[in-house]
Amino acid sequence: MGSDSLDKGYDPKGIEEKWYAFWIEQGYFSAEDKSDRAPFSIVIPPPNVTGVLHMGHALNNVIQDIMCRYRRLLGQNVLWVPGTDHAGIATQNVVERKLAAQGRTRDQLGRKEFIDEVWRWRKESGGAIINQLKRLGASCDWDRERFTMDEGLSDAVRKVFVRLYKEGLIYEGQYIINWCPRCKTALADLEVEYEEKDAYLYYIRYPFKPGGKKGLTVATTRPETMFGDTAVAVNPEDQRFKDMTETQICLPLVDRMIPIIKDTYVDTEFGTGALKVTPAHDPNDFDLGEKHGLEKPKVIDDDGIMNDGAGQFQGLDRFECRKQAVAALEKLGLLEKKEPLKHSVGNCYRCHTDVEPSISKQWFVKVGPLAEKASEAVRSGRTTIVPENWNKTYFDWMDNLRDWCISRQIWWGHRIPVWKCPDCKAVIVEETDPTECTTCGCKAIVQETDVLDTWFSSALWPFSTMGWPEKTELLKTFYPTNVLVTGFDILFFWVARMMMMGTHFMEDQVPFKDVYIHALVRDEHGKKMSKSKGNVIDPLEVIDEYGADAFRFTLAAFAAQGRDVKMSKSRVEGYRYFVNKLWNASRFALMHITPKDTQIDSDKLTLPDRWILCRLAATSLAVRQGIEGYKFNEAASAVYQFVWHEFCDWYLEMAKPCFYEKEGTCRRNNTRAVLSRVLEEILILLHPFMPFVTEEIFQILPATQGSVMTANFPYDTDIYNSRRDEDAEKRMGFIFDLISGIRNVRSEMNIQPSMKIKVLVHTEDEAEKLLIAENKSVIVNLATLESLFFCNADSLPQSAATSVTGNATCYVSLEGVIDFDKEIKRLAKELEKTTKELTGIQKRLNNDAFLDKAPEAVIDKVKAQHDELAEKHEKVNANLERIKSLA
Ligand SMILES: [Zn+2]
Ligand SMILES: [Zn+2]
Repeated sequence: MGSDSLDKGYDPKGIEEKWYAFWIEQGYFSAEDKSDRAPFSIVIPPPNVTGVLHMGHALNNVIQDIMCRYRRLLGQNVLWVPGTDHAGIATQNVVERKLAAQGRTRDQLGRKEFIDEVWRWRKESGGAIINQLKRLGASCDWDRERFTMDEGLSDAVRKVFVRLYKEGLIYEGQYIINWCPRCKTALADLEVEYEEKDAYLYYIRYPFKPGGKKGLTVATTRPETMFGDTAVAVNPEDQRFKDMTETQICLPLVDRMIPIIKDTYVDTEFGTGALKVTPAHDPNDFDLGEKHGLEKPKVIDDDGIMNDGAGQFQGLDRFECRKQAVAALEKLGLLEKKEPLKHSVGNCYRCHTDVEPSISKQWFVKVGPLAEKASEAVRSGRTTIVPENWNKTYFDWMDNLRDWCISRQIWWGHRIPVWKCPDCKAVIVEETDPTECTTCGCKAIVQETDVLDTWFSSALWPFSTMGWPEKTELLKTFYPTNVLVTGFDILFFWVARMMMMGTHFMEDQVPFKDVYIHALVRDEHGKKMSKSKGNVIDPLEVIDEYGADAFRFTLAAFAAQGRDVKMSKSRVEGYRYFVNKLWNASRFALMHITPKDTQIDSDKLTLPDRWILCRLAATSLAVRQGIEGYKFNEAASAVYQFVWHEFCDWYLEMAKPCFYEKEGTCRRNNTRAVLSRVLEEILILLHPFMPFVTEEIFQILPATQGSVMTANFPYDTDIYNSRRDEDAEKRMGFIFDLISGIRNVRSEMNIQPSMKIKVLVHTEDEAEKLLIAENKSVIVNLATLESLFFCNADSLPQSAATSVTGNATCYVSLEGVIDFDKEIKRLAKELEKTTKELTGIQKRLNNDAFLDKAPEAVIDKVKAQHDELAEKHEKVNANLERIKSLA
């Protein structure tokens, strides 16, 4: 496909599109159902079908793609299952908004029409995120793309529901749930967002007798719920109530008598130590109510309006009721005080209406027995969570799980497969739709109108996407999956559910061997990206501007375990230089290598050749260990250092002279073959991180055939051992130190970078002598020398600056190179300036007033400045002394 040379500059645009289409066409992303090759599988965390690619998705999918591409290079049979989630409420809201713009409502359409409308929307504009994932380079097996509402997955949902119901693990019951009075549906805990709000804490006295003076004072932020109180609770250990004999108390405004109960749950530090108990409108009170057998009357209905339980306040909106009830209490002298308070209020993640905890009839999964197995799987190490500090969160979550409310009062989703008989009240739950009551034969049976929580279907994702309940080859080959890659913010919730469903339905097999939890992507200052802060970076914009490869490499380079990724365009720009560096180095290499240069004669390697092959082996190992150990930043950093510094800065420079030797010399041909091999392997090592540019170059390399995707990862123990070469590393290390030493002198003495200088070396060490002689041209070239000669102990030069490496001393002649007088003046001036600055800063640090008042961060900064200046001062002073002694 490619041409036989590279363009002058790398332009990602056309190249990315070209290769992505090529890979798809060649079927490189496709897994084999059955194969002799070792399997490797990942299921994608399905993005919402309404979703738009954000930084979190980008990091999540780049990590998965790195692993999949790496495993293919190892020759494994890789399955990466993609797909989207139907996202019940979110999608319903999108379509409802669209209808509203046309002046229509879902009620006008009716259930069936509305659902058709959602499918139409999905076909036209849903799933845009899939194409955005392709822009990233995601190598998913697109032929196997799934959707949580497609037929196969819906069958799996049905089967799971029926089985859990028959096992007594699904039940219908009264329960406290999060309710959105605007969307009129139950919300999962996850669908509630918390926000700090200004509120008041109201202290209300409940008298022991109607109209009485003595009583208990309760503190609440939500006085409107008092009408639903069925007890006041105190802690039995609280000394303040030790002599209290009353067992009943009067609920003001409605004058209803309720019991006083004792429970150690009550926090003696909060308010007055007396707690009003409203089981129908507070989840903790609900638990207390269950424990003490209290009534649970609802006083706020599903619209957020007070019902007849609120007496004279019936018909008021809940917030209006709060105002009026407080005013009425004040009038009666029962409001003791109100204190301003900041507290966190839950609101609906779709419409931001305050959530109302409320009791209602819902369907539940009894999670106890399921959670136990899911916990055990991690405790026993069958599933490993990386990094391991997340284990604690996992167990905490599992141990404190409430029963899972799975019904939602919306239309878009899997309709609950429960039918009820109006005559005999039988409940029918079967795998196929019933047409009549199985008990009495009544034909007028009615299906439940609620649909299942979206998480119910996504909890089955790892096995439902592989064809369960059928016993498919795919499941046999790829289940359990190798790893699930997820962010910790919301999807932990989902991981736990998959663990429960997986261990229950797949014969105790875990859904994944590893769970890798990555960090969040934040802005460059470590702040969360949000629309309101205006600091959101759009991944697609970044790809347009810098190319997918630079973007992917940036994500990988900063994806350290347990640390958030601080993303900025300038960081991506930095890695675009890296892409360009690779591009330019390849262009240079391609000018010198030909298809003939493929055979390396290992007996005729030069020292730099031996050294670069050895470093390449070490780098391959580091990349391998980094990717397999979920330390993607370490893998990225290893290959970056190798390519940029060892390959481009050192090796190419050292190898250059060989290329210009006479045609046919062994050194010339062998070094070309080494260059070709090293470049080829660099492309393979980089491919998981930067798939596009590596493919473009690989296709043009004379020594390679076909796609980099079909190449072999350049690491196995044999290659590694044959290339390890401690002697070469040691000897090259000496040469590099020597060159660096001369370069340091150049910069200290302020010698122009382009000026060629004379250097004499003295050493008594014969091995060093030989090494220097053999690498003379490399040293001359890289240290920008006019000449390099040995000298004897009795003819050491005067007026030369020195640097010492091992037993060798380099004498850099300064005669005619620098103007001594001028340089002495310059350094003296700089010393004066530095001394002044240093004195100033020392004064500041000796000033007690400053040390007392300034914030610690400021003091630390000044101290750091001081240390830096002191170091500079010392250096300038030493340079001045040195040059004075030479003059
Ligand atoms: Zn809502
Ligand atoms: Zn019946």
